[in-house]
Amino acid sequence: MSEKISPGMQQYLDIKKDYPDAFLLFRMGDFYELFYEDAVNAAQILELTLTSRNKNSENPIAMAGVPHHAVGEYIDKLINLGYKVAVADQMEDPKKAVGIVKRAVTQVITPGTATDVGSSVDNNFLVAIDKQGEKAENQFGLAYMDLSTGEFKVTELTDFSTVVGEIASLKAREVVVGFELTEQQSKILSKQMNLLISEQQNFPEHLQIKLSALTELENQVSSKLLAYVKRTQMRDLSHLQEVEHYEIKDYLQMDFATKSSLELTVNKREGKKHGTLYWLLDATKTAMGTRMLRSWIERPLISENAIFNRMEIVQILLDNFFERSDLIEALKGVYDLERLASRVSFGKAVPVDFLQLANSLSNVPAIRNILESLNDKNLSVLTKKLDDIPELSALINSAISDSAARTITEGGIIRTGYDEQLDRYREALQNGASWIAKLEADEKARTGISTLRIDYNRKDGYYFHITQSQLASVPEHFYRKATLKNSERFGSKELAEIEEIMLEAREKSSLLEYDLFMEVRAETEQYISRLQSLAKAVAEIDCLQSLSTVAEKYGYIRPTLTENSRVVNIKEGRHAVVEAVMGAQEYVPNDIDLPEQTNIQLITGPNMSGKSTYMRQFALTVIMAQIGSFVPAQQAELPIFDAIFTRIGASDNLISGESTFMVEMSEANRAIQHATKRSLIIFDELGRGTATYDGMALAQAIIEYVHDNIGAKTLFATHYHELTDLEVELSALSNVHVATLEKNGDVTFLHKITSGPADKSYGIHVAKIAGLPDKLLERADLILQKLENKPVLAKKSEVHEEQLSLFDFDENFSEIIEQLKTKNVDNMTAREALNFLWELKDLL
Ligand code: ADP
Ligand code: MG
Repeated sequence: MSEKISPGMQQYLDIKKDYPDAFLLFRMGDFYELFYEDAVNAAQILELTLTSRNKNSENPIAMAGVPHHAVGEYIDKLINLGYKVAVADQMEDPKKAVGIVKRAVTQVITPGTATDVGSSVDNNFLVAIDKQGEKAENQFGLAYMDLSTGEFKVTELTDFSTVVGEIASLKAREVVVGFELTEQQSKILSKQMNLLISEQQNFPEHLQIKLSALTELENQVSSKLLAYVKRTQMRDLSHLQEVEHYEIKDYLQMDFATKSSLELTVNKREGKKHGTLYWLLDATKTAMGTRMLRSWIERPLISENAIFNRMEIVQILLDNFFERSDLIEALKGVYDLERLASRVSFGKAVPVDFLQLANSLSNVPAIRNILESLNDKNLSVLTKKLDDIPELSALINSAISDSAARTITEGGIIRTGYDEQLDRYREALQNGASWIAKLEADEKARTGISTLRIDYNRKDGYYFHITQSQLASVPEHFYRKATLKNSERFGSKELAEIEEIMLEAREKSSLLEYDLFMEVRAETEQYISRLQSLAKAVAEIDCLQSLSTVAEKYGYIRPTLTENSRVVNIKEGRHAVVEAVMGAQEYVPNDIDLPEQTNIQLITGPNMSGKSTYMRQFALTVIMAQIGSFVPAQQAELPIFDAIFTRIGASDNLISGESTFMVEMSEANRAIQHATKRSLIIFDELGRGTATYDGMALAQAIIEYVHDNIGAKTLFATHYHELTDLEVELSALSNVHVATLEKNGDVTFLHKITSGPADKSYGIHVAKIAGLPDKLLERADLILQKLENKPVLAKKSEVHEEQLSLFDFDENFSEIIEQLKTKNVDNMTAREALNFLWELKDLL
């Protein structure tokens, strides 16, 4: 027998039906209640007490609630964990309702649309992806938006892995999908990238975006994103900027693996900013600047002009120390204009927000003056964009009181002189105050009660406060209002008259203030787009200021970048982040020299000598230069690269479930498929993930392929010493190694890159230092010599011939060789080395 459902519960179910994927918070009195599954799950996540409705019936309904005043915190928590929340509010006054109070969802909050979760200045991007029909198999549209700043951009991308990379680099938490995902795609997005997937297959006609600057697919995906946002937000979105097309090809291309292994904006250990390039370069003073700097790092430039312009300004600011420090001071007074603008648009702005706006605007002329005084044409482009919106300052300064608070219902918001009626109420209040003071003095004199005073509280209004001991002197025209323990409260006709005037003035004035404030808020809306443009200009100046502040701090120099050059010449270069962390004295600078005709540098050297650091140093220097930053070196000449590909270390790859070696090969493949002559490739110990010969063979073939078919500048660090012989056949390859110093049996890593291949017998040296017996070492030397007499590398011309069998003499001997090849001597303790030797001996 199905149980009868109450009308209230029916209303709940009707609403819930439209929001199956969200926690529905259902306003009932002072609480927001959750029911059924929602209640069970939320009780667990939010640590709420789980109760039930209809406890005694057969099927009690699970229920949990949060107090309405604390609902924000609970919503934040759910959003941060990646859930959606729908809020159903009461749409009429319960006291006046006939039957069930009308309720409706007033807002859906999702991870990608939350605008004020926490205090983070980071962007919160919501991404939408779409496809155009079945035929365009690999053509995707991608749009993204930050609701808290109004930024809205769109592009087309040509394969799903690029889409995944772009979503990852936007650090989106939610993706709106406009087409049927394949099972594989859905798995990647939801399981591996941990994204909340929201569907939006179509859009209402009135939200269709039809910009001629965009492709059909771009218009379509933007429309779907807009439709999704409108559907969930149900509030004013006037701050949304017009959608703007961008092209990933306009920037230095780096896939997600590259950005993550170079630790550009988040470190690998904890996913935080510390120890990253972003951390190093960030001396910004405004929230807009901080956000923009991050996007600069995610998207370095490739246009010589654009880079040159940034560097010119960095240079000017570096050369003018006093102006820069004044600029920094002025920037400190500029609040988060983008967020303030969006709060105005959402109708969420409170009085202090306006004070912050006015304060920010008041700093703009100072910024402009400083920049104008530097009298430079690159700067003047920026200076022109510094619109201090005097109309808005005037409005706020005349309307909002300096001491305005956060609340908008308590009065004290509007400045005296702004509105005549309000001033009249205030005068009445003020007069009332002096009337009261006079009445108090008069009654004191008349009654002779020295402790008589007039007080006010909400319950009793104005009253005469008389202590117990003075009761006898109370005059006749007083009447009792309340009796307390040690005192009594009295009223009088005169006091009541004053009170009436004052209470009326007080109530009317706060109502009026509220209305006036709403008017100011509405009027401010028309300045939103000007505020957003101003925010951009300020952000840009802040970023440039930051780059020159950091350049000065660490003694960076201005690099020379040339679009069509093929020459890399860095003198005394340093790894910017490692140097900042370990200190400049400790860091050993290195030259990086790849002349016109050298494309590939093969780097050999023992473990821990500095191969990886050297290669990363180069990649970071390139990125910094293309951002427009100065670089850590004595001198630097660089081409402008179009892309950086890396294969570095074991990366925790997005496409998890693949073996390390598979990841290694996929990343190598990306480089090989997409790199051009103008790209930079960094391969660190490629081939390590498989058996020795397998790995070495692939490494060699990859080097040859890059050499013959791509011609990209490539750094290749390897522990396959044999590969150094490639120098003979590959004209554009050169060997370098990391120098070590051996003195009195101690090996010191000099971290110095030197030309030529590394010393082969290095491992045996280390074994000697570790104290292995001489006899053993002699034997190892002999074995090594034997090995070295064997041709290992296949000549390029031999590609299709059968490979020589290397060790066809003794089966055991080849086993010994294999062991020697694969064992990592560097990682052994002396004892392990000795045991290993005994094993070898046994085999013999
Ligand atoms: P490899 O890749 O050859 O194994 P790494 O590049 O990982 O070596 O460097 C190992 C350690 O040596 C680093 O953690 C760093 O502390 C130090 N190091 C590397 N290069 C330098 C340098 N140029 N100056 C000072 N220390 C360095
Ligand atoms: Mg290394």
